[in-house]
Amino acid sequence: MSAIPSELCPPAPASGPATPSTAGARAAGAFADLHLHTFFSDGTFSPEELAGHGARCGLTAMSLTDHDTVEGCPRMALACRNLGIEFMTGAELTAELDGIEVHILGYYLDAENPSLQTKLKQFQSVRQNRIHEMVARLNRVHIPLRAETVFAIANCASPGRPHVGRALVQQGFCTSLDEAFDRFLKKSRPAYVPKFKISALDAIALIHDAGGLASMAHPGLNRNDDVIPALAVSGLDGLECFHSKHTPAMTEYYLDIAARNHLLVTGGSDCHGYNKGKPLIGGVKLPAVYFDRLQERRRSGMVKSEL
Ligand code: AMP
Ligand code: ZN
Ligand code: FE
Ligand code: FE
Repeated sequence: MSAIPSELCPPAPASGPATPSTAGARAAGAFADLHLHTFFSDGTFSPEELAGHGARCGLTAMSLTDHDTVEGCPRMALACRNLGIEFMTGAELTAELDGIEVHILGYYLDAENPSLQTKLKQFQSVRQNRIHEMVARLNRVHIPLRAETVFAIANCASPGRPHVGRALVQQGFCTSLDEAFDRFLKKSRPAYVPKFKISALDAIALIHDAGGLASMAHPGLNRNDDVIPALAVSGLDGLECFHSKHTPAMTEYYLDIAARNHLLVTGGSDCHGYNKGKPLIGGVKLPAVYFDRLQERRRSGMVKSEL
């Protein structure tokens, strides 16, 4: 692994939202990134590279939340352990409530849980079939991309649109990933294929059944605030208030929503690899006090309905 220049790690915002002072067990200045992707889904870093970036950015805790898979977690756990970083197994599930898309992050998952394993396999199979469907649609608009090319680039069980985009760039059909999404892959474009989505309530139940805590990802990105109260009373544990696409004002806004709905606070960069020459990891630092509360809830062994 090559050395990572520290200037690649953006500093934490100087005037971000206020951090509450509670009985946080950790030293001030301890930070977590709880939303990260590797090449086990649509990220580009290996788990070891990602952990290395986290260490360089001074993170004290990390979670790997690849789409519909926990496959990268054992490697990431080992890499984190070697670097003195706390790690929790995670995953990001694409779900829906009343037709509204919701991404649900699962934390502290038992990767060996049979129902979780079965469901993740199903989601991965849906993703693989969807690649064939997207390629067929591209072929219909005279883009002769082959599914094998996409699968070779993805090289993982949980392929997605970014892999199709990378294949379009590699084969010279597009000059950038942005162009691939804009012309072909985003909603209402010719190769867009909606993905089967588990109901958000089932996603929360699945995560709880696997011993985990469920947090709703990047509400500011999906603009689906209306579903938060309904999910909160249905067992959702947390809200991702800190995210790289949230402004400080949005973070404050979601911290308030989390407090009003008795939700834990989570946060992360949603780093998928290099973005304009820099990894996003380190740009969003979840203050340790929130991570401590997550751990306290987990240690209590209780889900929200039992509190
Ligand atoms: P999928 O789960 O296959 O529908 O792909 C969703 C993923 O595509 C997201 O997690 C992002 O990583 C990525 N993505 C979504 N929109 C864009 C975009 N406009 N440009 C680049 N990547 C995108
Ligand atoms: Zn992604
Ligand atoms: Fe997401
Ligand atoms: Fe994500």
